[in-house]
Formats: sequence, structure tokens, C-alpha cells
Amino acid sequence: MSSYLNRRTWLKTSAAAVAGWIAGPHLAASGAGRFLRPDPGPGRFVKLNSNESHFGISEAAREAIVNALGGCSVYPDDDYHELKELIAVRENLEPENIILGAGSIEVVTAALHVYMSKGGALASDPTYYDFADYAAKARCPLHQAALTDQYDLDLEAMEKRIGSSIGLVYLCNPQNPIGTITSHPRLRPFCRTASRKALVVLDEAYGDYVEDPAYSSMVDLVREGENVLVTRTFSKAYGLAGLRIGYGMARPDIIRNLSQMERNFAPVSSLALRAAVASYKDAAFVRKVRQHNQEVKASMYKELQRLGYAFIPSHANFILIRVLPDSRELAKKLEARSVLVRAFHFGDTNWIRVSLGTGEEMKVFVAHLEDLGAAMEGGGVPARIDAASRSNCRGNQPVQSAGARAS
Ligand code: PLP
Repeated sequence: MSSYLNRRTWLKTSAAAVAGWIAGPHLAASGAGRFLRPDPGPGRFVKLNSNESHFGISEAAREAIVNALGGCSVYPDDDYHELKELIAVRENLEPENIILGAGSIEVVTAALHVYMSKGGALASDPTYYDFADYAAKARCPLHQAALTDQYDLDLEAMEKRIGSSIGLVYLCNPQNPIGTITSHPRLRPFCRTASRKALVVLDEAYGDYVEDPAYSSMVDLVREGENVLVTRTFSKAYGLAGLRIGYGMARPDIIRNLSQMERNFAPVSSLALRAAVASYKDAAFVRKVRQHNQEVKASMYKELQRLGYAFIPSHANFILIRVLPDSRELAKKLEARSVLVRAFHFGDTNWIRVSLGTGEEMKVFVAHLEDLGAAMEGGGVPARIDAASRSNCRGNQPVQSAGARAS
């Protein structure tokens, strides 16, 4: 840890940080033996800008990868039968309802390419940055509806905007970059109505982290044969972001449409496939990751409150924090200290989105935030949790730190 902190910062902040912080999760050292710490990577950044899992991969996934190495000279089973069968059984679907991709974003972009033919797509504002970015690259006009002042999807406003030229509605639940959820009693009727006019894509990348009973997957709408596509990923709670594997669930006719967009006869590698199969069976691993995520999140809330920062309570593995002054400047200063976060401006408000790493990593982040916050006195006091911080989240202008991709 001390390699991330200079001595002055460490001495100044360690007492408060340690007192307020939970003991873990030093997962590899916890005795659980099921977590493998990821390689810290070049430069040893505290990488809190892409919402990856810092809890590593399950032991079962590691074993599966090692065992699959011998088969690397052979193309993967391009039906992906075993994984599709496992997902189908758990979700009460058929394998024909499932498509795999090199990350769930591949499935989402395939849908965009097929269903934009009507003219355009609709999403919230802000929405998952990569979706907006892919829409721009595909020259798909993207209509956006601002979130409510509770940072929830404004489903009424969205419904009004689904005209005849909208071929696809993209909803991210939990929402990235906000971290809020839209409750199932609100979302389900919207999806039913909207899906009569357009394909409704429900991106559930962070669904594995949610504990609130107001949240539920919309996969039951797939079972009911509605015009919806539910996407999930192995990149987050399962910790397999680097292997690139995700999936979509929809009616067989929708799956066939998406398959036509595949430009690769086998987009998912055999290693990713074996790791995903092993991870998917390891429900205890995901439960532990969720639990650790909650613990780290609770500790972060306490620390942010102690420092006087406003933040949006999150259902995912990241927290959006209101900052003063310019979020880009703050992100640059943090980056200079080897801590990567994502900067956002919404209207005239500034925010940083911070992924939840290990307890140790968050201690480093908090220590630097505290140090920089003090340094910025006079330049701006950190926003407090008050009405003023509940400004509208209009405008999605993520500002990327160098060396980081949007996610
Ligand atoms: N959807 C959302 C909402 C995300 O935040 C991300 C990654 O950050 C993805 C999809 C991408 O997931 P994958 O790695 O499966 O392509």
C-alpha cells in the first residue's frame, strides 16, 4: 500500500482511514482460498475507473482455464452448448433463447446494428458511455431522456419519445454511471408497452451486485415472448473482464437476427468459455463477491460522509461522487498519484465515478482524496449531501483519464 502513498499523506491519513475501515477484504489472505488477486498491471495503478472486479476470479475458474490450456490449438465448440444449456436451465429458457458474445457489449451492439434500421435508438441521459459511443460510431441517431431528479430512469418521458423511428430502447439497470436501480413494478409495465414499438434492451451488467428486493431481472419477459433482449456479463462479479464473455437472452427470432451480425464464426475463446462455465456453477463465489462489495461500499459511504462529500448511493460496484472543482482536474491529480477514476460533468455539476476495489485500494483512494480535498480549500469545498447536489443529470460528457477506456 505504501507504494501508492507518499509518507506525508500516509502519516496524515492512516489513523483516520484505518479506524473507519473494515478489516478486509484481503481476499487472498482471508483463508477463503477462492479468490485470486489480479495482476496489478503495469505501473501499479490503483485502477478504479472501469468497474472491473478487484476480487479476482474463482478457484474453479482458474482450474478450468489451466485445464483448458491443452485444448488451445483447437477451435472452440461454436455452439457453446454447455454454457447455453446451463444458462437456459437456470433461467427457465431454451438454448435457442441465448446468444454469447465477446463481452455483453458485443451482443448489445449487434442489436443496435440490426434494430437501428427503423431510424434511431433511445436511452437515458446519462447512460452507459460505451453504448452512446457505439451508437455514434454506427451513425445511429440517439435520442436521450434525462433522468428524474431522483436519478431514476424517467420512464414516462421515455415512453413519450418512442416514435415510429425508434427501433431500439436501451436501458441499463442498475444504471451506469449513476448506480441507481429502477424498481421492477415500474420497469416491467414500461417494457411491455415499449416493446410493442421497439426492441427493449435491458443491460443487467451489474445485476449480480443488487440486493434490494425492489430490483429484479426482466428475463421473465423473455419467457413471456416479449420483444426484449436481456444482456448479462462475466466481466463484473465473475471477474472475467479480460477474457471477454457475456450473453444475451431473447426470443429465438431475435437471437437469429443478432446472429446474422456475427462477423466471427466463434467470437468466444475456449478459455473464456471454460472459465465462464466453471464460474457460473460457482454461486458461492458470486455471493462472496457481492458481500465484499457491500462491505467495501458501506465503508466508503462512511469515509465520504466523514470527508463531507455528496454521493449517490449505489447498487453496483462503483460510487458516483460529487466533487468541486472540475472533475477532470481532480481525476488528473489522482492519476498523477497512480489512482485512476472516471470524471463526469452533468450540466454544471462535476462528479467522479469510483469503482469499488479491495479495502486496501479504497484506503489509498480515500487518503489521496482527503489530501487533495484539503489542498483544494479556497478552490472549493467538497459538496455536501444537500438539495443543491441533487441537480439534474443532463448531458453525458465523460472525461477519460489517460490510458483508460470508457466503461
Ligand atoms: N454494460 C454496462 C452497463 C457496463 O458498464 C459495461 C462495462 O463497464 C458493459 C456493459 C460491458 O460489459 P462487457 O465487458 O460484458 O462487454
